[in-house]
Amino acid sequence: MIQYSLICESEHKFDAWFRNADAYEAQHKKGIVTCPICSSGNVTKALMAPAVARKSSDTVALSSGHPQQAELRAAMKALRDKVTAEADYVGDRFASEARKIHDQESEKRGIYGEATREEVTALVEDGIDFMPLPSLPEDRN
Ligand SMILES: [Zn+2]
Repeated sequence: MIQYSLICESEHKFDAWFRNADAYEAQHKKGIVTCPICSSGNVTKALMAPAVARKSSDTVALSSGHPQQAELRAAMKALRDKVTAEADYVGDRFASEARKIHDQESEKRGIYGEATREEVTALVEDGIDFMPLPSLPEDRN
């Protein structure tokens, strides 16, 4: 069994258990992984790492043609604006700051920044809570 922290489009966070990663992917693809609070099938893993500075060689997950694309983009932008307005920008020190806050060596507060894939993997393994910051196409000039 594997536990995932999931988050729906309305930012409800919840945990769900799956037999394995493939079982999660299969159920998620069928849209039967739903939010227990609002029943939305639009859920994603909360503990993944796109917040992360990407090398140009990395690929990015993209979608197009969703009927609510404009709404989804506006919601992502609102979330991003809220985080960046309320949290401290720590740049590439994100992983070490998140760890310090987790270990109560640093003041508990909202932060955002970038981390490498290796740092993100280590944070997940250590059970440190964070979430991806949506990056919007218009950010990339
Ligand atoms: Zn929900």
